[in-house]
Amino acid sequence: MSEKVAAPAIEPYLRLVEQYASSFERPEMRLRFLNRTLARQSERERLWRGRLRRFAFIENSAAYRWLLDFALYRTIFEEFQRLLPDGFRERRRLWRQAPVRARIFFELYRARRAVYAAGILAGVMLLAGAVVLGRWAVRGVSTMLDARRNSTVSIAAPVASAIAAATPNGAEYLPDYRPEKVWLVEKTAEYERYSNGGRILTRYETTNHPRSYLRFPREGWPDAPGVQGRDIIGIVYHSSESDIVPFIADNTQSIQARTRGLIEYVRERRSYNYLIDRFGEIHRLVRDDHAAHHAGHSIWADADFVYVGLNESFIGICFESTSATGSLDEQLTEAQMIAGRALTGILRSRYQIADAGCTTHGLVSINPERGTIAHHHDWVRNFPFAAFSLSDKYATRPPSIELYAFGTDEEVRAKLGGWLWEGAAKAAAEIESGAAAERDPRRGLLIYRAQMNRQKEH
Ligand SMILES: [Zn+2]
Repeated sequence: MSEKVAAPAIEPYLRLVEQYASSFERPEMRLRFLNRTLARQSERERLWRGRLRRFAFIENSAAYRWLLDFALYRTIFEEFQRLLPDGFRERRRLWRQAPVRARIFFELYRARRAVYAAGILAGVMLLAGAVVLGRWAVRGVSTMLDARRNSTVSIAAPVASAIAAATPNGAEYLPDYRPEKVWLVEKTAEYERYSNGGRILTRYETTNHPRSYLRFPREGWPDAPGVQGRDIIGIVYHSSESDIVPFIADNTQSIQARTRGLIEYVRERRSYNYLIDRFGEIHRLVRDDHAAHHAGHSIWADADFVYVGLNESFIGICFESTSATGSLDEQLTEAQMIAGRALTGILRSRYQIADAGCTTHGLVSINPERGTIAHHHDWVRNFPFAAFSLSDKYATRPPSIELYAFGTDEEVRAKLGGWLWEGAAKAAAEIESGAAAERDPRRGLLIYRAQMNRQKEH
C-alpha cells in the first residue's frame, strides 16, 4: 500500500515534462529544459518533503500529495516560461501544443495565491482531524512512513540523472537504464532525422564491404570453434587525434575547413562508420552494415563471446578531437557530447546493442607481434561513458589480458605514463598472482593469430 501512495503522481508529472520538452524543436533547448526542470524538481521535492516532514501524519493524505504535486508543476512552468521564444505566434503555437492537463495546471499556477490558501486550509483541517484522532496515530503512521522512505526510490530521480548525465559534470551511470526505442522520423537525400533529436548527415556516405566475422564462445574456450555472424555487436569510440584549433567563434571558418579535410581523409580510407565534428554534426561515412577500418588488431568480449578484429563486428564512431599536448586528455565540445549521446541511442536502439558492447579504441587495441595492450590509445582514459548512459568500461577487465595474457612493455608504459586503467590493473594483478584464466602471453598470441586467420578465411 505504502508505495502506491507516492508513485502514481510522479509519473504523469514526468510525462508532462517530456511533452513540454518535445515542443522545443532545437535539441539543445529541449535538453536544457529537461535538465533544469528535473534538477530543480528534485531539489524542490526534497525541500517540500523536508518541510512537510513535521506533519508526517498528513503525508498519507491526498492534500499532501497535492501540495507536493503543485510545487513540482510550478517548476515546469517557471522553466518553460524562461525558455519560451519571444514571438507571440510562437508562444501561441506552443500553448496549443501543450496538453490539457498542463494548461489547467498553468491556470492554477496563475491563480496560485488562492490555491495556496486552499492548500493551507486543507492542511489546517487535517491538523485538526489529527488532533482528534490522538497522538497514538501520529506515532504509528510516522513509523510506517519512515520505513517507506527508506525503501521507495523516486521515479523522477533516475530520469533526472539520466538527463543530467548528458552534461560532462554530474554524469551518473544508471544500471537499470534501457535506451528508449528510437525511430526514423524523416529521411531526405541529405540526412536522416530520429525521434531522439539525433540527425545523421548522409551526404558523404559510402560503401566498403559487408560485415562478416567469427565470434568465439567463452564456453569451451579457446578450443570451441568460432560462430559466424553479420550483426553489429557493439560500438568502438575513437578520437581523430587531429590538429585542431581553439573552439572559439573567431575560428568558425578554420574549424569548418578542418572538418571538411578530415571527412575527405576518413571517407577515402573508410576509417570509421561515423564522424562527429566539433559542432556536433553526425556524418555517416561508411554504411552501418559495412565494416570500416577503425579498430585494426583488437579484442573485446561480452558475457558469452569473444570478438577479434572488431572492424567486422563493431561500429566505429570517431569524435573530431585530440589529446592535449603532453597528456592523453581528450576534449569534447558540448555539441559533441549531445550528438554522441544521440547517436549512441540511435545505434543501440536500432541494432539492440548491449551496454557491454560499447567501448573505446584504447581499451580494445592490441599489438599482435608483441602481445601488448593499448597499441592505439585513443580514449584510454576520460571517455564520458556515464554521460552516454553506458557503464564504465575502465573498470572492466580487458579480455586481452584476462583471456590472452597480453600485457605492457616499455613502449606502452611510456605511452601511458606508467599508469594502467583500473580494469587492466586488476587483470594484470591476477596474472601476477596466478589467478588468471591464461598466464602465458605466447600462448595468447598464438590463439589470437589463429582466430584472426580463421576470421579472414571463413
Ligand atoms: Zn582509434
